Amino acid sequence: TPAILWLRRDLRRHDHPALGAATAAAGRAGVLPVFVIDPTLWEGCGPVRRRWLADTLRVTSALYDDKLAIRVGDPRDVLPALAAETGAGSVHVTRETTPFGARRDAEVAERLRSAGVDFTATGTPYAIGPGIVRTQGGTPFQVFTPFSRAWRDHGRPAPAQDPKPTLHDAGSHPHADELLSAATEFELAEPLPDAGEPGALARWSDFLERLDDYDTDRDRPDLDGTSRLSPYLKLGAIHPRTLLADLAGRQGPGAEKFETELAWREFYADVLHHHPRSAWHDLRDGLAVLAYDDPGEQVDAWRAGRTGFPIVDAGMRQLARTGWMAGRVRMITASFLTKDLHVWWPVGARHFLDHLIDGDLASNNHGWQWVAGTGTDAAPYFRVFNPITQGIRFDPDGAYVRRWVPELAHLPGRAAHEPWKHDDGYDHGYPEPIVDHAAERREALARYDAAKRSP
Ligand code: FAD
Repeated sequence: TPAILWLRRDLRRHDHPALGAATAAAGRAGVLPVFVIDPTLWEGCGPVRRRWLADTLRVTSALYDDKLAIRVGDPRDVLPALAAETGAGSVHVTRETTPFGARRDAEVAERLRSAGVDFTATGTPYAIGPGIVRTQGGTPFQVFTPFSRAWRDHGRPAPAQDPKPTLHDAGSHPHADELLSAATEFELAEPLPDAGEPGALARWSDFLERLDDYDTDRDRPDLDGTSRLSPYLKLGAIHPRTLLADLAGRQGPGAEKFETELAWREFYADVLHHHPRSAWHDLRDGLAVLAYDDPGEQVDAWRAGRTGFPIVDAGMRQLARTGWMAGRVRMITASFLTKDLHVWWPVGARHFLDHLIDGDLASNNHGWQWVAGTGTDAAPYFRVFNPITQGIRFDPDGAYVRRWVPELAHLPGRAAHEPWKHDDGYDHGYPEPIVDHAAERREALARYDAAKRSP
C-alpha cells in the first residue's frame, strides 16, 4: 500500500530519514507527500512567516516532482481522511518535539491506528533528538556548557541516504492555492532570501568560504559574518546533521564556534521538551514577583524602531523590513525592552515570533529568557546591556545604523551612535531617546533586588 509522507518542519529532499522510511514502507506502491495547512497555526503565524512558508512550500513541491499535495484543515481530521481516500497503510513524519506538535501528533497517531493505519516517526529536526542528551545521573541538563559537552560527546549521526521513491500526488485542497497565493502577495520592504533546500544549500556553501572569519565576525551586525541559516533550519530546508557532517573535516575556531551555536539550538529544544511551560512562563521562578510595567507608547516606539537609541532602532527596523535581525542585536533590543522599559519578556517574544522568518518557539523564547535573566542561564539577572556602548563596540563604524536608520545616514563613523553629540544629529527627524538609560538601569536593578529579597 502507498505511504503518506506528512511534511512539517522537514521541507527538503536530502538527508531525510522519514522520506527513507516512507519509501521503504511503500515499496512500489509509492509515497504521497503532503503538507497540511492548519488554519489555527496559519492565522497565528503573521504575514511574514506565512510568506516564507508559502515560498518554501513552492520550492519544496518542485523538489518532490510537483507531487506535493497541500491540504487545509485540522490534521487530526485531514490525515485519517487522506489515508482512507488513498488506501495508504502508513503515515510517516519527522518527530515533532514542541509541546503543541507532540500532543497533536499523539492524537493523529491514535486516530490513524484505530483505523488500522500505522503512524511512524523517524528522526527529529535536531542532530540529537530533544530528551536524549542527559547527565550521568540521567537527568536533563539545566545549563548550556555541560549540555554542549555531552552533546558533542554523544557522537554524530551520519546523514541519511537519499532514497528514490515513486511519488504520487494525492491532490491539493482548492482552498490551499488561495491561501498560498494570498500569502505570496505579502511584500516586505526588502526581498526575502531564496527559499527552500536549494537556497539553504547555496547559503551554506557560500558561508563555508567565510567560516574562518565566523569566530571574529559573528557579533558584528555590520558584517555579513553569520550563516543566516536560521530561517532554513526553522523549516527543515536543511538539517543540522548535514551541516555537522560537512564541518567534520574542518578545524579551527570558526568551525568550533559554529558547532557551539548549533548546540544552542539543540539545547533550547531540549529545555522546551523537558519544561513545556517555559515557552511562555519564566523558567526559573526566582523572579516571579518582579514588578513589570504594562506595555504602552514606549513599547510602540520600540516596535517601530523609534526609541532614540540607534542600535536598537536599527535592529527593530531591520526586523520590520527583512523579517530577520542580527543575533547580537536581538540581545540588545531584548535587553532594552526588558531592562530599560521594564516589560515582561513574553511581550517582546511575541513580537519577534510575529515578525521573524526564523521565528522559533524554543530558540526565541529561551533567548528572551536568557536576556531577561529568567531562563536557563545561571547568568546574573543584573546584566543590563548598555545600548550605546554595545552599538559602538559591535558596529564600530556605524555602518549598520546608517543602513537601517536613514535619519542618521548623514552622521559619519561612530557618530551615528551618538546623534546627541553632534549639532546636526537631529536634523533629519531622528527621535530623541525615550528614556534615560542610566536611570532605567538603576530602576531595573532596584526592581530585581526587591524581587530577590521578597520571601
Ligand atoms: P549563526 O551565527 O550562523 O548560527 C548558526 C545557527 O546556530 C543558527 O542558524 C541557529 O540555528 C543556531 N544558533 C545560533 N545562535 C543561537 C542561539 N543563541 N540560540 C539558539 N540557536 C542559535 N534563533 C532562531 O532560530 N529563531 C528565533 O526565533 C530566535 N530568536 C531569538 C531571540 C532572542 C532575543 C535572541 C537573543 C536570540 C534568538 N535566536 C533565535 C538565536 C540567534 O539569535 C539566531 O539563531 C541567529 O542570530 C540566527 O542567525 P544565523 O543563522 O546567521 O546564526
